[in-house]
Amino acid sequence: STEKSKQTADTVADSSPRLGTDKQRDETPSKKKFCFKAAKEHNIPEDLNKILENKVMETVSDLYYVNMSVVEMACLDGADGEGIVSKSVSSHSDLIPGVYEGGLKIWECTFDLIDYFSEAEIQFTNKTVLDLGCGAGLLGIVALRGKAANVHFQDYNSTVIDEITLPNAVANCMKAGNRMGSGDDKKTSKPPLKRPRKAECLPDVLTKCRFFSGEWSEVSQLLLSSNKPFSKYDLILTSETIYNPEYYGALHDALAQLLDKNGRVYLASKAHYFGVGGGIYLFEKFIEEKNVFRTRIVKIIDKGLQRCIMEMAFKDSS
Ligand code: SAM
Repeated sequence: STEKSKQTADTVADSSPRLGTDKQRDETPSKKKFCFKAAKEHNIPEDLNKILENKVMETVSDLYYVNMSVVEMACLDGADGEGIVSKSVSSHSDLIPGVYEGGLKIWECTFDLIDYFSEAEIQFTNKTVLDLGCGAGLLGIVALRGKAANVHFQDYNSTVIDEITLPNAVANCMKAGNRMGSGDDKKTSKPPLKRPRKAECLPDVLTKCRFFSGEWSEVSQLLLSSNKPFSKYDLILTSETIYNPEYYGALHDALAQLLDKNGRVYLASKAHYFGVGGGIYLFEKFIEEKNVFRTRIVKIIDKGLQRCIMEMAFKDSS
């Protein structure tokens, strides 16, 4: 049933003309020059009902997510650097380079990582967690369910945070049906009968969350220089974020700056991203050369295009 749910999510994500066809499934979101988008923290709006207005929610693996094929959206470079434009885009490559980084669909390695968390019994209780390059934010939401102390979400695109990540976090924090922490309804791959009723959030759950958009080095700076208290992350979760070797430096440095000295990174990726050239082995080599982290491939998924889960820790960590 998990497999079915995954397929459903893929179908949902990929069936949209805006989000690409099967052929484009493994295309990477950004191929060209990348711009260093400033970082911003997104406040959680007071009126939580507003966040879910006009959203159609689906479920996968017992998690709510915004149906992105219904979100009339393309992140194009508007006057303010980003905007929601209901213009039909047939593939990612139609998007202006450096503006959209792929957060509008749920990428399959997200599900690999969710499966790995349960297989390996990764504990989130009382941990400080970052979902890096979060898109839909399902990894962070799973950590929230696992009773993490704090979960921060980061995506390159502020529109993705506002229209996808935040609504998903809110929907999954609902009191209705006791969503948070309920283990029921694993098989649901159909849309729920209705939207989660009222946005009565478990306040303590949402107050554990913070949301950021912007480029990795900028977000890292923002977190470290902010006057809000910040403690480094016990766990950094990241899926399908190493497709472009041009970003490896920024990613490596953000991980090095934000991970607690005894923390762990769980990274899920395809072995190779055709077209852009990134992939797990290239990233592994890059990390080795930097000599800051040790890495370990903890799982290989050999169905179709090979995919992997990598664990990273500081070389001098316990
Ligand atoms: N983790 C999500 C998933 O598995 O569905 C989204 C994966 S999407 C292919 C890549 C994500 O990494 C996007 O959310 C994008 O915003 C983020 N990202 C990629 N390069 C980035 C960069 N240089 N700085 C900040 N975020 C970046």
